[in-house]
Amino acid sequence: MIIPIILITCTSNADNVNTVANDLALNENELETTTSTTTTSTTTTSTTTTSTTTTIPQGLERSFSTFAGEDLNNEPKQWYPSLKDKCIKGENLSPNFERITIELSRGNGREFQFEPGIIFWDETFTMFYRPENGASGGVFPFKNLMVGDLLYDIHNIKDAIEGPGGHVLYDDGTNGDLVADDGIYTNTCLGLPESEINNENDSRNKIIGDMAFLNPIYRGSVPTEYLTSDVRINDIGFFINTGDWYFNSKFTTGRGIQNCYPCKILWELGIEFDFMSYISREATGGWGYSRVHDNFTGMCLYEGEGNINIRPELSEYLISDNPHTEWIGLIHNNYLHPGGFTHELLHGLAGVGCTTFPGNDLNEEFTLNYGDRMHLKDTTTINSAMTGPFWDPSRGHPYSVRIKNEKDLYREAFLTRDNNGNYFLKPYSESIAHIESDIMLYQFGLINASQVTDTYYSIAVSEISIDNCFTRPEHIDNIIYGNSQNRGLFCDSTIVNVEREVPFNIDDFINFYGEWGIEGSPNYNPEKIRVGMAYISDRAHTEAEITWHTLAFRQYQQSNEFITDITAIFGESYPTWLSATRGLGKIIMNPTLLIDVND
Ligand SMILES: [Zn+2]
Repeated sequence: MIIPIILITCTSNADNVNTVANDLALNENELETTTSTTTTSTTTTSTTTTSTTTTIPQGLERSFSTFAGEDLNNEPKQWYPSLKDKCIKGENLSPNFERITIELSRGNGREFQFEPGIIFWDETFTMFYRPENGASGGVFPFKNLMVGDLLYDIHNIKDAIEGPGGHVLYDDGTNGDLVADDGIYTNTCLGLPESEINNENDSRNKIIGDMAFLNPIYRGSVPTEYLTSDVRINDIGFFINTGDWYFNSKFTTGRGIQNCYPCKILWELGIEFDFMSYISREATGGWGYSRVHDNFTGMCLYEGEGNINIRPELSEYLISDNPHTEWIGLIHNNYLHPGGFTHELLHGLAGVGCTTFPGNDLNEEFTLNYGDRMHLKDTTTINSAMTGPFWDPSRGHPYSVRIKNEKDLYREAFLTRDNNGNYFLKPYSESIAHIESDIMLYQFGLINASQVTDTYYSIAVSEISIDNCFTRPEHIDNIIYGNSQNRGLFCDSTIVNVEREVPFNIDDFINFYGEWGIEGSPNYNPEKIRVGMAYISDRAHTEAEITWHTLAFRQYQQSNEFITDITAIFGESYPTWLSATRGLGKIIMNPTLLIDVND
């Protein structure tokens, strides 16, 4: 039998906010259609506590010792990339160097690979590339291969500046290239140019394409402890050396629920969690969500597509005699920061599967997830990380409406309505756009129905218009027009002309779906969602990788404020769970709070 898998893939969008979903891959044929009946159940937040039996997996021995990162290049089992001033081409190759070369030559994975993809900027990295045209042998200029046009080859700066071709990659068996003429071009001892490091605007880090550079001042600032020989922990999660699984799942098998080896490891170690999250040690894509158990009632979680409440195959996979029925789902974080994390968490908590609400007899354009049927549409007055910015009414996603913000720059927008029933667009950068509306907080179990007093409105995309709009501007690349200009509709009016509106409130919602409740997760506490944070790697993480992810997710977990491009330690602007829920909801990531106290 095919194990039903749903993987919702959400990737970042243009401009300054990136909680927008693209490339949604829902394989409906693989859905298990269990008929869902609406039940009325009361809110149960933990009464009984059942402790799980802990089984230490074979080969994983608990040994606590401290790793503070001081022993750079000295740890016997630990590989670090060479420092810039000590790098010798073709030496101190990463343990996975051969594996990357082989997978690329088989046509697996993305055509460019960086190893490591996160370094301190006094360290070096290797770039691998498989040209699309099948070229092999000799040299290949590497301009614009996801790392821009900087001069990375620190051994050949002079040649690169003075020569005609800039930097090159090699498929001639030199400069670290493993096999000559195999169609895989390589160059080692690449580093961030000094000219880039002296830019004070990027004093903490730089992300260039998919390559990440961290200021070495953070070295030694993030200690970890060994939980087993392959699992290190700190306050923000588990750094797991999964060995071959990492590359198997990256290059060939994928990282679906049925293949979640890190989930198995944590469950066997006695970790209890409501959600699991993979955090890839390098950028390999965007964000996504996989369902395991839909343990909530009284919502449009997956209306019309069948709830998956029982998935015995998955339980068996984790531990056959110890099913983890409370496990709700898996958040995939395959980029360098948590920009899509809140959005993916919402897929597990709220869906959104409202294919008929607010009414069966309405034009389907009024239903809340009209469009791709997985997200909250932009044409309601609900604010949520489940919706994107306001899309061009005629072209839809991914073409966004841009209005002038407070700095007179054309940027993305969101829909608002005043008390007189007039609709306006406001800049999407306003933090209110990223704070969940009360009707969403209700669906997260964070407030009662009686606290949801607002009336919400849905409008139909085919019945609206905006005046004074134009497409691609004359002054291409002028900063006032922002990124991805060919995907913008630039409007000098913020008024949205609306023919009809459909109002609804919390009573309508409850009459339709029943009351919110929890089924099958007796220990679930909406105010403290437990997430097993599995930072995954094929080898022991380097200190730069641990430090980067720890600082990024520590800020995500702790910040009460919407992260802006100014305050973000890494990356762009995004809502944290605390900021999105006005401080009502917290995410528990610290492993010591997830480990059964009886263990
Ligand atoms: Zn999504």
